[in-house]
Amino acid sequence: MTRHAEAGVLVVGSGIAGLTAALHAAAGGCRVTLVTKDVLEHANTRFAQGGIAGVTFEDDRTEDHVRDTLVAGAGLSDERAVRVLVEEGPGRIAELVELGVAFDREPDGSFTKGLEAAHSYPRVLHSGGDATGSAIEGALVARLRESGIRVIEHAFLVDLIVEGGRVTGAELRVDDTRRERIAADAVVLATGGAGQLFSHTTNPAVATGDGIAAALRAGAAVADLEFVQFHPTVLAVGEAFLVSEAVRGEGAILIDDSGRRFAFDDHPDGELAPRDVVARAIARAMDAQAGRPVRLDATALGADFLARRFPTIDRAVRERGLDWAREPIPVTPAAHYLMGGIVTDLDGRTTLPGLYAVGEAARTGVHGANRLASNSLLEGAVFGARAGEAIDADAASRLWPVPAVGASLAATTPSPAAPGAASVAPFSRAALQELLWEDAGLVRTAERLRSATAVLAAWREQSPKPRTQAELEDANLLLVAAHLVAGALARGDSIGAHYRADAVTPVLEGALAC
Ligand SMILES: Cc1cc2nc3c(=O)[nH]c(=O)nc-3n(C[C@H](O)[C@H](O)[C@H](O)COP(=O)(O)OP(=O)(O)OC[C@H]3O[C@@H](n4cnc5c(N)ncnc54)[C@H](O)[C@@H]3O)c2cc1C
Repeated sequence: MTRHAEAGVLVVGSGIAGLTAALHAAAGGCRVTLVTKDVLEHANTRFAQGGIAGVTFEDDRTEDHVRDTLVAGAGLSDERAVRVLVEEGPGRIAELVELGVAFDREPDGSFTKGLEAAHSYPRVLHSGGDATGSAIEGALVARLRESGIRVIEHAFLVDLIVEGGRVTGAELRVDDTRRERIAADAVVLATGGAGQLFSHTTNPAVATGDGIAAALRAGAAVADLEFVQFHPTVLAVGEAFLVSEAVRGEGAILIDDSGRRFAFDDHPDGELAPRDVVARAIARAMDAQAGRPVRLDATALGADFLARRFPTIDRAVRERGLDWAREPIPVTPAAHYLMGGIVTDLDGRTTLPGLYAVGEAARTGVHGANRLASNSLLEGAVFGARAGEAIDADAASRLWPVPAVGASLAATTPSPAAPGAASVAPFSRAALQELLWEDAGLVRTAERLRSATAVLAAWREQSPKPRTQAELEDANLLLVAAHLVAGALARGDSIGAHYRADAVTPVLEGALAC
C-alpha cells in the first residue's frame, strides 16, 4: 500500500454529500471512518422530494442550466463553481443510476422530465414520483455498507481538534454518554444545514448547524449565512411536511380565504415565481387573514394523478385527514435550505488545512443569494466526489493546501451582549426558533435584527457549558444564529432570499428572475 493509501479520513455526516465523499475517498485508497449523529439514513437527503437537476436530455443545454443557476443566485454565485456543478452533474447522476437509483422513466425508457420553478427546461429527474431523496440515500447507504468503510452511528461531532494550525481529528460524543477523540489526516464536514433555527422548517431534527458551528469555533471562514431559502408550501396541519414545488409545476394554484388567486399580484409567473417571492406573497396573504394559512388547490389534478405522481405527499396529506383531490389544503412557508456555510474551494478545501466541507454545510459559491430548485442534491454528488478525490491527492502530496478563498468574503462578527440585555426571557430552543422566525425570517428590518442580536448575545452569555447532545446542539444553533443575524444586519439591501423591508435600494433584478 502506498503512503497516501494509509491516510485516515474522518467524514462527519451521512447525507448525499458525506456518503459520496466517503465512497470516493475510499475508492482512492484512503482509510475512511464515517460518523453520524443518528442512524445512517437520518439526513435531509432522505426527505428530498422534487428531484435532482442535471443536463441529461439531448435538447437541454449546459449553458442554459448554468444561466438558470446564475440568475437564481442573483449575481452572487461563483461562475466557476456553477460550471463545475453543471458540467460534472450528468456524470454524477450516471453514477447514481449505476448504484441502483431508479429515476422514473417513460414507457420508451427515457427519463421522465420534471419542471421546477426558475428552470428554463424540465431537467429535474425524480424517483418514486416524489421519493427521490429516499432512493438516493438508500442506494448510497447500501453501497457504503458493502464498502468496508468503518461506520459509527450515534456519534455526535462536538468539536474539531486543531493542532499547529491544522485539523488533526475530532472530538465526538458517542451514544450521548461518552466523549471520544478520533485522529485523522483529513476531516470532512458533511453535516447539512440548520433549518432547526426556525420555528417553521422542512428540515428534520438533525439539521442544527453543528458542522458550521464547529468550523466557526475552529477558525475556518464561514460566509453567506444570511441567505436562507424559505419554501413557500409546507402543510400547515400536524408536523411540517413539504408539498413540493412540482405540485405547483403540475398546475396547483394558491388561494386566500376568499378564494382569490393572489400569486400574480407579485410576479408574472404567479405560483411558479421564485421561491422567495411566492413565500413572501403567502406570508402577506396570511397577515391579511389574521395568520391563517393560505390554501393550495390541487383539485384540478385529480385523485389518480396526485396519488401516482406524488405518492409520498398524497400519503402525508391523507394521514392528516385531508383529501386534496376534493378540497384545497392549508399551507404556510417554512425555512428550507441554507445557501451559506463553510467557505470552500472547488474541491471542498476550507481555509483550515486538513478540513474539508461538502453539501449544504459548505459554501461552494454555487448558490449565491438563492438556490435553484433541485441543485442541492446535485451539489452534494458533484462536490462530495471532488472532495473525496482531492483528499486522496492532497494526502499523497502531504501538502494539505489551503485555498485563498476566504479573503474576499466579508466576515460578520456577532456583537457582544448589550447592557440591560440580561432581562431577556430565559433561553429555550423553541424561544430561539420563534425569535429567528419573527426577526430574521422572510421579511427583515434593521430594527428587528438589532433586537434579535441583543437577545442572542444575552442568551449566549447566560448559557451554561453544554454537556448533553441537546445542549451541544442548542449552543451550535445559538452560534450560527448570531452569525446569521449579523450577516443579515450587515447586508442592507434585499437580494435573492435575503429580503430587507427597509432596504435602501430596490430589490436587485436577479432576485426576481430566479
Ligand atoms: C423536505 C425536503 C425536501 C427537499 N427536496 C429537495 C429536492 O427535491 N432536490 C434537491 O436538490 N434538494 C432538496 N432538498 C435539499 C436537500 O435534501 C439537502 O440540501 C441535501 O440533501 C443536503 O445533503 P447533505 O449531505 O449536505 O446533508 P444532509 O442530508 O442533511 O446530511 C447531514 C448529515 O450530517 C449528520 N450530522 C449533522 N450534525 C452532526 C454532528 N454534530 N455529528 C455527526 N453527524 C452530524 C446528520 O445526521 C446527517 O447524516 C430538500 C430538503 C428537504 C428538507
